[in-house]
Amino acid sequence: MSAACQLDELAKSTTTTIQFCPDCQEIHISLGPISLRLTRDHYKRFSKDIAKANYQLELPELSLEMLHEQQYTKLHS
Ligand SMILES: [Zn+2]
Repeated sequence: MSAACQLDELAKSTTTTIQFCPDCQEIHISLGPISLRLTRDHYKRFSKDIAKANYQLELPELSLEMLHEQQYTKLHS
């Protein structure tokens, strides 16, 4: 059994704390009452998935903004 993890803090906000344990090579994520431990590889893929999901979520708003910009350009060129 290993000693308690010595965690390096990677990021911290009011909602989330992300820490890394060099011994276990694992990322510890705390989201309020939920905490996750992921391998570095899993964490990397997880963060890409989060970014992808966030992009999908923001996409309708982004397209609307682009549409407005195009209309603006047409009106004023
Ligand atoms: Zn550890």
